[in-house]
Amino acid sequence: KQLCFYDYPIEKSAGVLDADIMGYGTHIDEEIKSIKEFNDLLALQRKASFGLDMQVSEVPVTKKVLGNGDVVLFVEEMQLSMNVEGDRVHICPRISTILEYQNDQWFVVHFHGSFAQGSEGDEDTWSVNEMKKRNEELERTVAERTQELKESLENLKATQSQLIHAEKMASLGELTAGIAHEIQNPLNFVNNFSEVSNELIGEMQEALEDGELEEVKAISVDLGQNLEKINHHGKRADSIVKSMLQHSRNSTGQMEPTDLNDLCDECLRLAYHGMRAREKAFNVEMGTSFDPKLEQVDVIPQDMGRVLLNLISNAFQAVHARQVSESGNYQPMVAVSTQQSDNEIRISIQDNGPGIPEDVKKKIFQPFFTTKPTGQGTGLGLSISHDIIAIGHGGKLTVESEPGKGSTFIISLPKK
Ligand code: ADP
Repeated sequence: KQLCFYDYPIEKSAGVLDADIMGYGTHIDEEIKSIKEFNDLLALQRKASFGLDMQVSEVPVTKKVLGNGDVVLFVEEMQLSMNVEGDRVHICPRISTILEYQNDQWFVVHFHGSFAQGSEGDEDTWSVNEMKKRNEELERTVAERTQELKESLENLKATQSQLIHAEKMASLGELTAGIAHEIQNPLNFVNNFSEVSNELIGEMQEALEDGELEEVKAISVDLGQNLEKINHHGKRADSIVKSMLQHSRNSTGQMEPTDLNDLCDECLRLAYHGMRAREKAFNVEMGTSFDPKLEQVDVIPQDMGRVLLNLISNAFQAVHARQVSESGNYQPMVAVSTQQSDNEIRISIQDNGPGIPEDVKKKIFQPFFTTKPTGQGTGLGLSISHDIIAIGHGGKLTVESEPGKGSTFIISLPKK
């Protein structure tokens, strides 16, 4: 009793316990088969009762001397009270203890602790009613927890879609700012050539008045060339704006037959303009190898465009990072290719950037994983791309990379 309910030193327990002690505590997993297990249980019990201000009193139930007077049985009810979350709680474990007299001393050879089940009435000896009540309580608690879990899951889903939206807006904003800058270039050509042409018309009118027909002819040839240039640069600006608009449109979520060669080409140009506008000195050798046999594929074009833009922009950033860190004659290169086989379509985006070390490779598809400086990477690009390909299109997004040589991201889509 001193050991279990007061503060008799645990290390002295072997002095009162039989070496082969066996006993049951009040809990289902408290089955003691050695002094060591008994000591562990005591240590746990003392730790758990710390700060509970436990008060103990003993109510003897029975006491029997057995055998030749060298075995005794004690049965007692212990009344324990303690502070639990502000309330005074009372429990009454029943303890039976058997001691044996060996070599002039009593040793505990067995003990058994139990709690009385609250039972209702004489007929409920198995405490069925009590258990029913507990079950109902448990069910209620489970229902409450389930509701709480449902709510937090919904919150999580809402937060997730907000994050995805924010990431999309961030990358679009970045792209838009860059590309607006890039459109300035063809627009400057349009403005300059139209001003020059206006002056030429003035000169032409003078030449007409002077009757210098040869001069008029020469000027009209120049004018024709200027108009061609204006048209060419106007179309360039037009195509940049068009593809930008296409990518800023919200995804319809609808599969549409799409020419993936065109989409890749467009995204390559768009990503290039975006990158160039951010990094003025950026240069890269861009290669394309589009399978001419590629048939139209059912994809969600805006989503697929996002994935391609993401992968190509990552490739540009990778080669740029290598270019900045490596002097000498490093030539950045990014290649996009498509390939159709009997049962799948593959798009690969290859770069000769720094590559991805094995330990980083394991994490790149995790949301929020980024190796880029704060403010430059969200770490969401690849995880969203992975979901778009795997969940949205039933395909696969994989990476092959050799540190120091470069990386290749491969999208494979099943051929329907
Ligand atoms: P972010 O670009 O915002 O960092 P991503 O999910 O697109 O987020 O990419 C996660 C990480 O994967 C990057 O920070 C980078 O470490 C690595 N990574 C992605 N593409 C490449 C690549 N082409 N070459 C090397 N590392 C890459």
